[in-house]
Amino acid sequence: MNTVSNRIANLAESETLAMSQKSNELKAQGIDVINLSVGEPDFFTPPHIKEAAKKAIDDNFSFYTPVTGYLSLRKAICEKLKNENGLDFKPSQIVCSNGAKQSVCNAVLSVVNPGDEVIIPTPAWVSYTEMVKLAEGKVVTVLAGIEQNFKITPAQLEAAITPQTKAIILCSPSNPTGSIYSKDELEGLVNVLAKYPKIIIIADEIYEHINYVGKNESLAQFENIRDRVVIINGVSKAYAMTGWRLGWMAAPQWIADACNKLQGQYTSGPSSIAQKAAEAAYTGSQECVKEMQQAFQRRRDLVVKLASEIEGLKVNVPDGAFYLFPECSYYFGKSYNGRAVHNSGDLAMFLLEEGHVASVGGAAFGAPDYIRFSYATSDENIIEAFRRVKETLAKLK
Ligand code: PMP
Ligand code: GLU
Repeated sequence: MNTVSNRIANLAESETLAMSQKSNELKAQGIDVINLSVGEPDFFTPPHIKEAAKKAIDDNFSFYTPVTGYLSLRKAICEKLKNENGLDFKPSQIVCSNGAKQSVCNAVLSVVNPGDEVIIPTPAWVSYTEMVKLAEGKVVTVLAGIEQNFKITPAQLEAAITPQTKAIILCSPSNPTGSIYSKDELEGLVNVLAKYPKIIIIADEIYEHINYVGKNESLAQFENIRDRVVIINGVSKAYAMTGWRLGWMAAPQWIADACNKLQGQYTSGPSSIAQKAAEAAYTGSQECVKEMQQAFQRRRDLVVKLASEIEGLKVNVPDGAFYLFPECSYYFGKSYNGRAVHNSGDLAMFLLEEGHVASVGGAAFGAPDYIRFSYATSDENIIEAFRRVKETLAKLK
């Protein structure tokens, strides 16, 4: 019998995308579902970025691009890193890819050998673990619950490091928790990492601009680890461009070279049109980024207020991204109409089928007592969704 490779058989399906698809299927059946599952801005891509893409088509940007992206785009990214983050990178250190998802995966595949350990502060985005599995690495989770605002401590980090540790993937602002490490908190972790010069630090900063507490602090600013930090970023979240598929990494030259080689055999450079659009995003006015950030902040306040009024949900105040990650174990073991809820996956399904609100169970993020709601949707949708969540959860006895 034909069978898929063990590599694929062992890979979990992306639960964020699966829940979103399920919600779209119900919608197609005419059911009015509010989708708080997938994390993507609900805004349209700003007009000046769309214009740049149209112009790129008319100007015949229709040929293969360099594997790591057009030089003009990589220069624009270097300018962004200089002006916004105070960081010096050369264009040769930038690798543009089909979304930040590919950038993270490129980084992992470039440095992880079979059996190497990769530390993942958890709760963590669903795809990190699977990427490490693809590279035949071993995931080492370091847990931080709501009582520590989902942030690991230097002592926890140090305890997880072994001679096999090859990399750490740190996401701040975090998906799924919205937590942000302050400069002092990062410094605490950096002081530990400085003692272990073989560890590569993958810093996923894709939510950089969706930050409600001030400027984002990049892990690459610390001189004592700077030469082994890989910054991951892209246009999906800051510029509402999830479908354009354009992400990038800024990396030590040897890692950028490795990704160039990998990508050259695997996908080639990303879409020429998306690259020209991204260039316009980085070189044009940043007003649109600020406007969207302000809308997300208003929604954050709304969602925290509404979720806090629901019995049994333990809620913190996220500092960034567009996710709320309440603890929900109060509902485990309860049932309604003969349907029992044993875990957060069951709870997410119950909310979807009974309340018509799509969310994602925490287990996919390594935190089974939690549930994720993306609030990247209108105030109106948020209000109605949390009305339904409250009403639906109240049925569980
Ligand atoms: N990292 C994190 C933490 C994310 O939430 C996402 C969301 N998709 C990505 C990376 C990938 O983004 P992109 O759409 O650019 O692939
Ligand atoms: N990152 C978003 C999320 O977590 C988009 C879906 C995905 O790529 O996982 O929902």
